[in-house]
Amino acid sequence: MRAAILVHGGAGQNCRAGERLERYRRGLVAAVHAGMAELVAGSGPLAAVEAAVRSMEADGAFNAGRGSSLDLQGQISCDAAVMRGADLAAGACGAVRGVLHPVTLARAVLERTDHVLLVAEGAERLARALGLEPLAAEPPAEQRARWEQLRAARQARPARPSARLRALLATGAEDDLPPPAPAAGEPGRAPTGAADTVGAVAIDAGGRLAAAVSTGGLWLKLPGRVGDSAIIGAGLLADDEAGAASATGIGEAILKISLARAVIEAMRAGASAQAACAAAVAGAARRFGAGTAGVIAIDRAGRPGAATNTPFMGRAWLAAGMDTPWVGLEASQPQPPAFR
Ligand code: ASP
Repeated sequence: MRAAILVHGGAGQNCRAGERLERYRRGLVAAVHAGMAELVAGSGPLAAVEAAVRSMEADGAFNAGRGSSLDLQGQISCDAAVMRGADLAAGACGAVRGVLHPVTLARAVLERTDHVLLVAEGAERLARALGLEPLAAEPPAEQRARWEQLRAARQARPARPSARLRALLATGAEDDLPPPAPAAGEPGRAPTGAADTVGAVAIDAGGRLAAAVSTGGLWLKLPGRVGDSAIIGAGLLADDEAGAASATGIGEAILKISLARAVIEAMRAGASAQAACAAAVAGAARRFGAGTAGVIAIDRAGRPGAATNTPFMGRAWLAAGMDTPWVGLEASQPQPPAFR
């Protein structure tokens, strides 16, 4: 089997341009190299996907770690997960603040606790106990500026259906209006900022698989919201008997159809990674509209797959024997033969 790693930098509505696009591309390339270094060192696929995701969390160009989106109150809280296909070991964290590498915290949940998912304060305590690198409380200026912009745009739009939520959330803070539900596909209600979440899937020379995902979640999400990225079977899944998958898009859609599970079960039934990914995102589009989901996968034969129903999803692929990674950005960009 050829050791290989495939990463994505999020399924999004907006294609980037210029220096921002270059930085994003460089980040994808750095991530696959970081993952491949672990595969070459024999550290296994879990270490490979963790290293790839850590690289993107540290980068700042992605919606994960340093570059995470901000919630309605202007705070960062992250979701992440990892899974090892050999024994179905999994670890995840949700709504975590102040942790630069949520993916490493997710791995710590897998390796150092008897649980699969820790959230909020409990997860943060584990991170502190392990001395994991903190994330600066103040988000980068670029993120703050985007937040101001999105928030202003949202306040200019009548929020609906918000009466019930508003009553529930009435905290006295006039500007704490809940965001419209991110129901993609509903006319006039494009989702805010599903993009740039990061994920990775890897296979080693022994055919062992792993998957990882990390995100700051949707822009302007309600504080406390946890998306698909912390949920095994939705945001990711790895099973050496079938394949590994990592999803991106509107968490509220992905959760309802257990997107990663759908990809894995299709591969278990014999579909290639590419066919399984394409079918899963087509299914998401059928139920929730276009612009809702993207996914990457590697099947048990070591073939890669990547598909999205959004216009854009950065992805990079590096297999043993390749000199340079293949990088794709727009959804329409043709993928190399390995992806068929
Ligand atoms: N799936 C992520 C979430 O809903 C967002 C993304 O993929 O960009 O939290």
